[in-house]
Amino acid sequence: MSQASETETTEGTGRIKSVSGPVVKAVDLDARMNDVVYVGDEGLMGEVIEIEGDVTTIQVYEETSGVAPGEPVENTGEPLSVDLGPGMLDAIYDGVQRPLDVLEEKMDSAFLDRGVDAPGIDLEKEWEFTPEVEAGDTVEAGDIVGVVPETVTIDHKVMVPPEYEGGVVESVEEGKFTVDDPVVTLENGEEIAMRQEWPVREQRPTVEKRTPRTPLVSGQRILDGLFPIAKGGTAAIPGPFGSGKTVTQHSLAKFADADIVVYVGCGERGNEMTEVIEDFPELEDPKTGNSLMARTSLIANTSNMPVAARESCVYTGITIAEYYRDMGYDVALMADSTSRWAEAMREISSRLEEMPGEEGYPAYLAARLAEFYERAGYFENLNGTEGSVSAIGAVSPPGGDFSEPVTQNTLRIVKTFWALDADLAERRHFPAINWNESYSLYQDQLDPWFEENVAEDWPDKRQWAVDVLDEEGELQEIVQLVGKDALPEDQQLTLEVARYLREGYLQQNAFIDVDMYCPPEKTYAILSTIQTYNDEAFDALDAGVPIEDITSIDAAPKLNRIATQEDWETFVDELKSDITEQIRSLY
Ligand code: ADP
Repeated sequence: MSQASETETTEGTGRIKSVSGPVVKAVDLDARMNDVVYVGDEGLMGEVIEIEGDVTTIQVYEETSGVAPGEPVENTGEPLSVDLGPGMLDAIYDGVQRPLDVLEEKMDSAFLDRGVDAPGIDLEKEWEFTPEVEAGDTVEAGDIVGVVPETVTIDHKVMVPPEYEGGVVESVEEGKFTVDDPVVTLENGEEIAMRQEWPVREQRPTVEKRTPRTPLVSGQRILDGLFPIAKGGTAAIPGPFGSGKTVTQHSLAKFADADIVVYVGCGERGNEMTEVIEDFPELEDPKTGNSLMARTSLIANTSNMPVAARESCVYTGITIAEYYRDMGYDVALMADSTSRWAEAMREISSRLEEMPGEEGYPAYLAARLAEFYERAGYFENLNGTEGSVSAIGAVSPPGGDFSEPVTQNTLRIVKTFWALDADLAERRHFPAINWNESYSLYQDQLDPWFEENVAEDWPDKRQWAVDVLDEEGELQEIVQLVGKDALPEDQQLTLEVARYLREGYLQQNAFIDVDMYCPPEKTYAILSTIQTYNDEAFDALDAGVPIEDITSIDAAPKLNRIATQEDWETFVDELKSDITEQIRSLY
């Protein structure tokens, strides 16, 4: 049952037996697992999560205070579904896809705060439909039958719902219609409108999942250069407080080369989410200059929703993402934070008195997380287009301890790990992504793309940088014991090169226009210039030039300034020749 569908509740009315926070037990209710039910006199929305004999257990997506035993429970007989159609972009939803602005209006006018229904997409608004099929054509499930300009940035493809049989087109409309007006009618009587419904817990069908081979270019040097994610890939990003989680997420939402961004905020009540709701609409889309919201759908847990709604946020978000993927778009889904969702599972599980697993989390924690990330991928869609859902989940390990169950279980599933590090943030090294702990398992499958589109030796350069940074890590331990001057000269030089890698390459300032987005060509150029310095410097050292002379050449400090040059190509050419000339003049 979606927000827009008629809510007939004829399938059998039960009574509340007990209420324990978001968990309500009902008796005499004729229901199946995952049915959506309306609980109590106020009709709060909930979902059946357990049936034992005559007792049905329901998780309720709204605050249950004041709801008492004896009140009625009505069953809709349908699973939790979302409305899919034009109008989802530029929208901010709560966990059960009620648009927050509509909700606020309704609440203000009627002083209602619970049990409010509001359709996920506007049922009255008219959209300009341009057909792409004509009478006599044959269409199948998933096929695109027309286009609607949804926002200034995105064309919405109207598709035959996946569960339709399909067949010969009888008639086609053109012009302005509401989402429920049939725009294409098939000879078999099936009518295609702009709105579809889909049960959130079910993956939308595709032809096949493919190995992703294109990077989701983020414009962040450390990510693209060292730990790339594929289009259709999965990543986890733990964010201890103050480590730059918000800034990183904004940068990804703005610059990652996804067509659509779905941002799922299953955060703490209040503050965390208000920030997102206030921040996002103000972000500008660097590609078009329009508001970023023109290609973004935001799903956020609101302050009057209990923990159970965090779960529905996640499922609603991934279903919306899959729907845009079906149109052939690359979608980036960001879930913030999956730890809060896991905590919700823990709370519900304990109220159900289930056998607890590690640290009180339910035994099915790993399975649920896996199910979610499984829905990401690079797909061939039913209509023959290719599209992707990349899933980036923020994790908030208490105390930054990565050994806790949510981080550990997530790490077993995702293929990219970007470890935000509070120590780096404290040292003002941003983005504070720890290069020793982070990894990407997509490197091998993405290298051919970088070789072809950026530079043939992209993988070699990366490996060189990783080796230097590794060596620096080992040398630092010695330096802490005996001091830098006790090291042999070649190791001192390695430390110097590593410093340029950290300061000139890995650091990137999200608040400086020229630096906030770094195209892969520039990422490569910075690395390659630092390597030129490295090679020339070691040659000079081998030839007997004292290290102080090498490291004090005028050109060297400019390595840290490439990132902030408008005309970086010329700057890099000049810098490389200056470095070569100045070092070679020493011997
Ligand atoms: P969190 O959300 O993890 O609490 P924020 O994203 O708000 O942390 O970042 C905290 C501060 O760190 C920011 O206000 C900013 O000053 C700094 N910061 C984080 N990332 C960057 C970056 N990429 N470039 C420059 N400064 C950054």
